[in-house]
Amino acid sequence: MQSTRITIPHELFATAESSTFSGTLEMERLELGPDEYRFDQPLAWQVDVTNTGDGLLVAGRITGTGTTSCGRCLDDVDVAIDGDVEEYFLLQPPEDDAEKDDDDPDEFEILPDDHVIDMEPILQAAVVLDLPTVPLCSESCKGLCPDCGANLNAESCECAAAREQANREFDQLKNPFSVLQELDLSEHDEEG
Ligand SMILES: [Zn+2]
Ligand SMILES: [Zn+2]
Repeated sequence: MQSTRITIPHELFATAESSTFSGTLEMERLELGPDEYRFDQPLAWQVDVTNTGDGLLVAGRITGTGTTSCGRCLDDVDVAIDGDVEEYFLLQPPEDDAEKDDDDPDEFEILPDDHVIDMEPILQAAVVLDLPTVPLCSESCKGLCPDCGANLNAESCECAAAREQANREFDQLKNPFSVLQELDLSEHDEEG
């Protein structure tokens, strides 16, 4: 059962008071650029909420596992998630800041009137920030052959050798004298 809502209790409205909250976040799918993650288990989160005097600091972690495709070989890869959660909620909207508020409503968060914080967007942002730019099954993943599509971690193919041969022939076309340099002329001496 998903639980991402924090109801701020009365005690937390005193300066320097702090409480710990925890729950789970269910995410089915997450698309991030070319990568698509799925989450078989809910992610676990825990935060400390601290009253700093004029606001509530929400800070903690979200952990779990996401599954996506390796950026090189396309095999499934499990990515461990350990994201930093941090958000600040003002207890009162700043009085003389009404104009600024209109221009940039995202500049700060204000604690809702019902004292309930929905952690879902904050937790999702923390997960996105923690995901790798290029997920890899292993740092040394050899990937797929660009010519025949073979998974080079599991099998080898002739394409690399064939490419090398083609490159050599191309170099010789560019430099016909390289063929002469490779000729062994000693046999001709013996015959003649
Ligand atoms: Zn891989
Ligand atoms: Zn190949």
